[in-house]
Amino acid sequence: MSPQPRARRFRSSGTAYRWDAVDVLEYKAEGSAPFKDVTRQVLFDEPELGVQWRYFEVAAGGHTTLERHEHVHAVLILRGRGEALVGTEIYPIAPFDLFSVPPMTWHQFRAAADEPMGFLCLVHSERDRPQLPTDDELAELRDASTKVAAFLKD
Ligand code: MN
Repeated sequence: MSPQPRARRFRSSGTAYRWDAVDVLEYKAEGSAPFKDVTRQVLFDEPELGVQWRYFEVAAGGHTTLERHEHVHAVLILRGRGEALVGTEIYPIAPFDLFSVPPMTWHQFRAAADEPMGFLCLVHSERDRPQLPTDDELAELRDASTKVAAFLKD
């Protein structure tokens, strides 16, 4: 029989978006994919649930990787503003907005220029590796609309 799961409580450090005993990690290995000024904290990694719950923080003017994959995301914005690309739609971001990212759907989250933006992201523990767009796929995305082209300008 597997050992009884241990109850845990990590205190939040209030408004700093940090939790006791939770390390602030690099978002991804530098150079492995394009992104700008993002940190990652793994809040829950629960085999019994089969999920991980992570908190990502994007510094002002920063952005996550433009990517797609078979696994899905549930995203809850906790702080800040910005814009998200999901599929070929651009959505403004505000605190407590919820996003679901379906399988194989391009997505990227960008913080506004003047404040950090942070969100919780729920994923399956076992998941496929993100794919980056080819030059052709990027050109196709840009052709979707002038809003998408403006979003993907840099
Ligand atoms: Mn993703």
